[in-house]
Amino acid sequence: MTPSTSAPRAAVIGSGFGGLALAIRLQAAGIPTTIFEQRDRPGGRAYVYHDQGFTFDAGPTVITAPHCLEELFEVAGERLSDHVDLMPVTPFYRLFWEDGTVIDYSNDMAAMVRQIRAINPADLDGYQQFLRYAEEVFKEGYTKLAHVPFLNLWSMVRVAPQLMRLEAFRTVYDIVARYIKDEHLRQTFSFHSLLVGGNPFATSSIYTLIHVLERKWGVTFPRGGTGELVRQLMALFERLGGTMRLNTGVDEILTRDGRVTGVRTSDGREEAFTAVASNADVVHTYRRLLRQEPVAASKAGGLERSRFSMSLFLIYFGTRRRHPHLAHHNVIFGPRYRELLDDIFVKGTLADDFSLYLHAPSVTDPSLAPEGCEAFYVLSPVPHLGLGDIDWRTEGPRYADRILSYLEARYIPNLKADLVTQRIFTPLDFKETLHAHQGSAFSLEPVLTQSAWFRVHNRDSRIGGLYFVGAGTHPGAGVPGVVNSAKATAGLMVEDLGPLVGTGR
Ligand SMILES: Cc1cc2nc3c(=O)[nH]c(=O)nc-3n(C[C@H](O)[C@H](O)[C@H](O)COP(=O)(O)OP(=O)(O)OC[C@H]3O[C@@H](n4cnc5c(N)ncnc54)[C@H](O)[C@@H]3O)c2cc1C
Repeated sequence: MTPSTSAPRAAVIGSGFGGLALAIRLQAAGIPTTIFEQRDRPGGRAYVYHDQGFTFDAGPTVITAPHCLEELFEVAGERLSDHVDLMPVTPFYRLFWEDGTVIDYSNDMAAMVRQIRAINPADLDGYQQFLRYAEEVFKEGYTKLAHVPFLNLWSMVRVAPQLMRLEAFRTVYDIVARYIKDEHLRQTFSFHSLLVGGNPFATSSIYTLIHVLERKWGVTFPRGGTGELVRQLMALFERLGGTMRLNTGVDEILTRDGRVTGVRTSDGREEAFTAVASNADVVHTYRRLLRQEPVAASKAGGLERSRFSMSLFLIYFGTRRRHPHLAHHNVIFGPRYRELLDDIFVKGTLADDFSLYLHAPSVTDPSLAPEGCEAFYVLSPVPHLGLGDIDWRTEGPRYADRILSYLEARYIPNLKADLVTQRIFTPLDFKETLHAHQGSAFSLEPVLTQSAWFRVHNRDSRIGGLYFVGAGTHPGAGVPGVVNSAKATAGLMVEDLGPLVGTGR
């Protein structure tokens, strides 16, 4: 199969936010692009379940940095606001502790100062210093580097002085603890790295920039749910003339003489492409999809020895009652913080206690649940399959019951009697449904030694025409992360393929 006799065509494997964003950019640049998605709907981690009148977004719910999404419509000469209503969410998060402490976290400075003063007035100065630090990190780490590919060691060496100056070798918690003394407040300002799969006690302090993303542009939620945003991105791609193949997994990326030539889909058909970008899991891509390519095996081996982020246990559930004391995004801290994270990230044990994220989107958009009802999901970070020896087939229903009992006892009275629907998603589902290595929810752990140049490169250096996009690449997981990775990858692909467009070569 030789692709070079015709005009360039690109394939994108997977329709996560990264895959969709890349495909839109390629198609807008005049490169005919096909997305292959194994599932029946696009979105990847942002899949949607519908059940008995409830709409459940499966994954991302905290939508920050809307300009990344706006850019995708702009490259197509359109406006995001004509298609998606991004509604502001306030507070950003309601944080609960077992001792009764509650913090409404937002970018309302007066409200934050009032709440910090009530907990520990001595931390007010530290809070301001912490924000100044995070702002510096944001300028260097996000504005300048998030969408820039790191292809060689030199690109890493060049930014090393800034990383040293910002003490990127310290952890998120280290930095927060330097400025803030109260433990509730330390948790308030350090839990954010968990949103992209990073243990605050191991993740580089660069991830404090998430605070600035949220403060600058707020936290938003698309009317109709995150799934509506996905639907609109897919529609945009199709308006541009792109081809979306749902229910079509890629079984193999075809190569010849060290160059990509096309893909074979799971129904056995072969199709020629000049370039293939994988939005699928990075280990799945090298180990399974490139199984005939000798250089891919060593790459897969290296990745398998890397550190992967935690997995998640999720329950999507609907109740026949509303719960007005809850906010849209609720973070429920358990009795232990560092020790629990140690169980999840290091020891691989399923602890008796948990810290939870509780999503209640009908607070912002009542259309996601039937009249008078409430749609929820609750998420518990758990060890990935490579760390923990947990049989989720038997443990899953038990663990779900423990979480629901805990929520009923403390946060949602009468929960079990009020349940209308419920569905669980375990680390095994991440592995089997999404091909996620070890069932990791966020791919490679975002530690410094696995970031930027140390992460999977947006363009493979040994297999011609092979590119990557999504959580396993620079800059990493999270919707802004993967949409920025798409910008980096699209830049490279347009640079490589652009000269061929219209030449028939
Ligand atoms: C429960 C949960 C909550 C989250 N909450 C937030 C949040 O609030 N805010 C935020 O910013 N981020 C959040 N994240 C992180 C964020 O969702 C992800 O980092 C991001 O969506 C991953 O996008 P991706 O482009 O890497 O692709 P993915 O979403 O991983 O999609 C990859 C796609 O590839 C497909 N695929 C795999 N193998 C093949 C194959 N062989 N052939 C064809 N297709 C294939 C899969 O089916 C999938 O559709 C959350 C993640 C989870 C799991």
